[in-house]
Amino acid sequence: MTDWPSIAEQITAASGRRCAAGPVQPIGGGCINRAAVLGSGDQRLFVKLNEVGLLAMFEAEAAGLAEMASTQSIRVPMPICTGVAGLESFIAMDFIALGGGRSDAKAAGRQLAAMHRCRRERFGWDRDNTIGSTPQPNPAYDDWVSFWADQRLGFQLKLAAENGYRGRLQQRGAQLLERFGALIDHDPAPSLLHGDLWGGNLGYAQDGAPVIFDPACYYGDREADLAMTELFGGFGMHFRAAYEEAWPLAPGYPVRKQLYNLYHVLNHLNLFGGGYLSQAENMVDQLLAELC
Ligand code: ADP
Repeated sequence: MTDWPSIAEQITAASGRRCAAGPVQPIGGGCINRAAVLGSGDQRLFVKLNEVGLLAMFEAEAAGLAEMASTQSIRVPMPICTGVAGLESFIAMDFIALGGGRSDAKAAGRQLAAMHRCRRERFGWDRDNTIGSTPQPNPAYDDWVSFWADQRLGFQLKLAAENGYRGRLQQRGAQLLERFGALIDHDPAPSLLHGDLWGGNLGYAQDGAPVIFDPACYYGDREADLAMTELFGGFGMHFRAAYEEAWPLAPGYPVRKQLYNLYHVLNHLNLFGGGYLSQAENMVDQLLAELC
């Protein structure tokens, strides 16, 4: 049973605004965590819950939301606090009523481009986080190709081997790791990325304004975020046109898109199993064919 009085007390301490321990309305739709709306009317907050050992995951989520909010480019729920209550860890953030109104997909494209203009010197981030429930390491690198080889593709391929996916995927994957650098000829810069930008992590507030949430932030090639918006759909052509109007993409993106989405397909293989194996192998084959 969730210890709502403890959560409300911690929210009150963090926000300086008294938070009541109810009403609580559980909501579905998330992939990883349990979620609920705490409070009513203007006082509503959105709270996600999981086991105690996953506090660091929520801390990284709060840091990612704060990082994106600091760019003042696209709306995100403001994190209020994270903590442990009884046998659970939690994150509390602003509640934003989503859906039911207009969807300004053009604004989503423009505003994501604006967020990507926020840059750092180096690739990676200040802290590691998770992609789904898989660890996502973010050490700082000067070189994007090495970062993608070591911390993204190489990391997931190693996990896949540990999960028993050896053989062809590993052989062809190793060849790709050696050679994919030839595809990165567009001088990518370290942009702030959402990091897990599938359609389920974009919503629209009642006034139509886009909202993104549930991030796996790091600084990387902006094309990696854009690629993921095309992996499972849900963003629409107005989104993409507005993004490109704000900040055109370099030639070669359609091929690099596969390289960047391979990371997520490998992650799905590691999280959900063999159904994604042939998709991952096909993507590796296509990328190697581009490099012949
Ligand atoms: P999970 O981490 O379990 O994947 P999400 O962060 O994606 O959970 O949240 C689950 C659902 O809750 C989302 O699809 C979205 O519809 C809704 N949601 C997420 N954040 C908020 C928020 N701050 N306010 C209102 N609804 C939200």
